[in-house]
Amino acid sequence: MPATPPPSPHNPSERHPKEEDPDKLGPDTLGPDTLGAEDLTYLAATEKLLLAVDFDGTLAEFSDSPTDVRAVPGALEALQELAGLPGVTVLIISGRQLRELSAVTGLPVLDSPGPDDIRLVGSHGAEDSLSGSAAAANEAVGSAAVGTADGSVNPTPSARAEVLQKLGEHAEQIAATDRGMWVEYKPYSVGLHTRQAASPEAAQQANQRLAEFAATCSTPAVPVQVTWGRDILELSVATATKGSYVAGLRTQLPEHVVFFLGDDVTDETVLASLTQPRPDVGVHVGGRLADTTAATRSLGSPFNVRDTLQQLAELRR
Ligand SMILES: [Mg+2]
Repeated sequence: MPATPPPSPHNPSERHPKEEDPDKLGPDTLGPDTLGAEDLTYLAATEKLLLAVDFDGTLAEFSDSPTDVRAVPGALEALQELAGLPGVTVLIISGRQLRELSAVTGLPVLDSPGPDDIRLVGSHGAEDSLSGSAAAANEAVGSAAVGTADGSVNPTPSARAEVLQKLGEHAEQIAATDRGMWVEYKPYSVGLHTRQAASPEAAQQANQRLAEFAATCSTPAVPVQVTWGRDILELSVATATKGSYVAGLRTQLPEHVVFFLGDDVTDETVLASLTQPRPDVGVHVGGRLADTTAATRSLGSPFNVRDTLQQLAELRR
């Protein structure tokens, strides 16, 4: 994948004719409409609902220490209640590795989740509790090749491991130049964290250098995906994206309406795949991508997400 910043999923002016009204130009008119009562009434009335939610920035606020991040109070309880209601399938899909997602949510990685369980999906869709990847989460790149929800198979472990090692070494060299940067290792990716970098410019330069190096490591056998996330540049050798995961799951649940909420660039792969604003409902959280998101609805913060989930549970009870 080319080492370039994330593209805009669409031209926002095409979707927001109201912005053409010069009297209404301004921050309040940018981006999707806020998710409203009418949307909740619609979602509450759907017979089958696939509720897929990102974790960091969507259910949880950010922290300088990723392992200390927790969902805002009541959010997981609302999800759990929704999972227990008839016709609702719930998953939390995150860029975190599965094991870590389990730790920060306090939810188990289940070998065979039932209809009332919250399913956990890690590594942007490369690890879930259905594809036997509890093992993958524990064994990292040394494990066998793992199938993804869309039926594709990731490259052989040894080739992947070799590329990941090169990416990790280079990321470490870059991180060593700035005390605020650090490298995270996941089963299928390496991330350079820059939240506490010396300056935004230093972070940008470091990311650019690493992205350029990643482009030189990418081959047809082991393509390297570069994702410019929030305070992290992620280099992945997995072929899965959140979008491909949800698309794969949909083929197994064809009658389900999808309600998806996410805050970051990687969530756009899901949002771009939905049919919005009906039958599916896609929500961009936090407003960071307000002028480029493919979502047609928005919520301001994880607290608004929590409130929304609680209201939906109440309406579906
Ligand atoms: Mg997020």
